Amino acid sequence: MDYPRQPSVHLSSEHEEFRSAVRSFVEREIRPNATAWERSGEVPRELYSTAGAAGFLGLRYDPRWGGSDQDYFATVVLCEELAKGDSIGTAVALMAQAEFALSALADEASDELKEAWLAPAIRGELIGAIGVTEPNAGSDVAAISTQAIRDHDEYVISGHKTFISNGTRADFITLAVRTGGEGSGGISLVVFPTDTPGFAVGRKLDKLGARASDTGELFFDDCRIPASNLVGDEGRGIHYILSHFAGERLVIAAFAVGVMERLIELGLDQASDRQVFGKTLAGFQTWRHRFAEMATRLESTRQLTYHAADLLSRGDPSGEMAVSMAKLAAAENAQRVAAEVLQLHGGFGQMEESPIPRYYRDVAGFSIGAGTSEIMREIISRQLVTV
Ligand SMILES: Cc1cc2nc3c(=O)[nH]c(=O)nc-3n(C[C@H](O)[C@H](O)[C@H](O)COP(=O)(O)OP(=O)(O)OC[C@H]3O[C@@H](n4cnc5c(N)ncnc54)[C@H](O)[C@@H]3O)c2cc1C
Repeated sequence: MDYPRQPSVHLSSEHEEFRSAVRSFVEREIRPNATAWERSGEVPRELYSTAGAAGFLGLRYDPRWGGSDQDYFATVVLCEELAKGDSIGTAVALMAQAEFALSALADEASDELKEAWLAPAIRGELIGAIGVTEPNAGSDVAAISTQAIRDHDEYVISGHKTFISNGTRADFITLAVRTGGEGSGGISLVVFPTDTPGFAVGRKLDKLGARASDTGELFFDDCRIPASNLVGDEGRGIHYILSHFAGERLVIAAFAVGVMERLIELGLDQASDRQVFGKTLAGFQTWRHRFAEMATRLESTRQLTYHAADLLSRGDPSGEMAVSMAKLAAAENAQRVAAEVLQLHGGFGQMEESPIPRYYRDVAGFSIGAGTSEIMREIISRQLVTV
């Protein structure tokens, strides 16, 4: 059955029309293929061009580059619906492009870089990735050591990145590099074309969940790129990265809302079908109350997510704290709901022919990617407690 979603003052009829378009896309293009893509460990390249043609890869960006200049609620609606496609890996593969790789370019890159990389990525002709994390620098972004040394009109890049979504076949990487001394002030962002000599993709990483999203190790050995590939100003990279984390965190929070809706729908179907001891599971108060609790988790996450989207759309500085709260709550609530729905399904919940075990694995990453839950608590507590 369809989850009885309540109306929201934040969503216009245009947002709801857009939701219907994304839902049809998910039912047509994603859900029937999800199992095959999960097994192969990647989505087909054509999915990016299909999503680009549908306008999904540039929602908030300038129409000059092919975007549609919408607000954060369009991103929320897109992510909620993508998350219902029974493959968070597929949703990650698309949003690693649409949000993670492109948002800093859309806001900070030169027109030349936008023309060369942003516009074709919005059309889905090129695949992009965001390259920040290194083996010795994850949560502590300021500890990155991949170096970019200026040599006349080029940067020479050497180093190692890991856990990069879309990394095994990206055409370009929005790459965090150290152009200056130690600490956060020495970090810059560049657009790195992956056909640059000296670049190599290492292992395609085998992981717990989100398996349809390829995740790679990347190696840079004296790679020369034009200095004009610098995004914004030298030494401002950490600011660009941290300020665009808000969009990434909103994506995960909205994925969690979509996942919980889908899981509750699957759970309600199961609860009304499955007979035990002469009645349906729904006939037992323990399960009815657990559905009430799951719906409350879903709606509280939705409210925090929509509140954050509202503040971000208005450029309110408290958006950072709100989106951290939304992501923190989203990860915990989605993980709890996935565990409950898994339990409700009994032995069938353990079977790979059902989407339930996949969702159970996929939501584990919600408390890690785009900033861990500990980092979310750190950001929130900084606004509350002075030490
Ligand atoms: C599937 C997947 C896809 C990813 N995609 C990308 C990508 O596309 N691009 C990219 O750049 N990165 C990507 N990442 C990396 C991701 O952003 C990092 O894994 C994440 O930021 C955590 O960093 P870490 O793994 O190094 O863990 P660490 O930073 O080493 O953290 C280990 C543990 O310590 C805790 N911890 C860290 N700091 C503190 C603190 N101050 N106080 C208390 N506890 C703390 C953490 O919360 C965690 O529990 C991806 C990761 C995964 C799993």
